[in-house]
Amino acid sequence: MRIRGRTFETVGRRGKYLVFDLDQGEVLLIHLKMSGQLSVCPSSEIVDKYVHTIFKLEGGHDLRFRDVRKFGRVYLVTDRDRILGALGPEPLSDAFTVAWLEEQLSRRRRILKPLLLDQTFLAGIGNIYADEALHRAAIRPDRRSDSLRSDEVVALRLAIISALETGIERQGASIDGAYRQPDGSGGQMQEIFAAYGRTGEACPRCGGIIERIVLGGRSTHFCANCQF
Ligand SMILES: [Zn+2]
Repeated sequence: MRIRGRTFETVGRRGKYLVFDLDQGEVLLIHLKMSGQLSVCPSSEIVDKYVHTIFKLEGGHDLRFRDVRKFGRVYLVTDRDRILGALGPEPLSDAFTVAWLEEQLSRRRRILKPLLLDQTFLAGIGNIYADEALHRAAIRPDRRSDSLRSDEVVALRLAIISALETGIERQGASIDGAYRQPDGSGGQMQEIFAAYGRTGEACPRCGGIIERIVLGGRSTHFCANCQF
């Protein structure tokens, strides 16, 4: 195999990709998609049918990629930009300023929700965090990006940052028990969803009813009573 005997030099993340820099310039990129899991375990541990890739590490351990739904992807590339080059800025970086967001929103003239999911616009926001951020910002997901007032741009930026940071604190969301880690642990973000997946339930901010619509082919949840 091409990477036998090689060393992982750094482990990082860009957008939704995990980035493993190898010595001699190659890069291993892993996208977990919906249900992918990456874990280090003793090589003696049983390999179930959902483990698709195993990297044998030193010292009798494996790095295993397990994926129930098989949407995940593993890439080995020499040019990381082939995969990562088109990604937009990181929303938790200094590049994500009010001025940048205001300019991009007015230039793109797109429906907000699909724009937030566009990884070439901002990297890393998925369906859950887009819905939660728009609810936090009290902005409707079907608004056009170039219709936002300056105060709404400020609110949206803070809402995106706070939704993502809350998700990180809670170790993400486990929306289906089947996709939890093998030991049963998982993220807790789903316990405080305000909008995502709450169709027909009361909005925690105003008591209105959370509605579900489809935008850009994706389920979208919002409160028509307090998101404008
Ligand atoms: Zn509401």
